[in-house]
Amino acid sequence: DPRLQHISQSIRVVPHFPKNGIMFQDITTLLLDHKAFKDTVDIFVDRYRDMHISVVAGIEARGFVFGSSVALGIGAKFVPLRKPRKLPGEVIFEKYSLEYGTDCLELHVGAVQPGERAIVIDDLVATGGTLSAGIRLLERAGAEVVECACVIGVPEVKGRCKLLGKPLYVLVEPR
Ligand code: 5GP
Repeated sequence: DPRLQHISQSIRVVPHFPKNGIMFQDITTLLLDHKAFKDTVDIFVDRYRDMHISVVAGIEARGFVFGSSVALGIGAKFVPLRKPRKLPGEVIFEKYSLEYGTDCLELHVGAVQPGERAIVIDDLVATGGTLSAGIRLLERAGAEVVECACVIGVPEVKGRCKLLGKPLYVLVEPR
């Protein structure tokens, strides 16, 4: 797909952010580039529009940007998966491990109905721990997770192509 090269080039790489040794992939520059942003959303919408998806779950915070755009494009609802103590209603939560320590994602009870077909979207997948927590939350709510989608995927996980048995769809590798 000729659009992928431009999408990749629109992502800024910031060395040593948020700490020494990390090459941070900054998608805010992709969002500044209307063509790159639109092409990114179009690729996801073309992929998912005929797959009977009724739920697009986006992971806080950058998964909200892509996920809500894709939800509008395919005619699905958008469901935010949020960090602790952000959602006001009753929630279920899943903890997951990071390089140092743990984090947690929450889902509003009642946001997803049993049997709904869902995708989970984030900006970047590294270990897959974050998306896997998203999959577990949706499955506990009774949804069927059809696939996970990310703009950027590290080669290790991109090659693996599966998270908890679910397909993983990734557009580009980190630069
Ligand atoms: P994982 O759980 O797959 O190891 O890490 C993915 C999560 O970390 C995603 O929610 C993603 O937003 C965040 N993340 C880690 N490194 C980067 C990065 O370099 N750029 C961006 N935009 N997000 C990152």
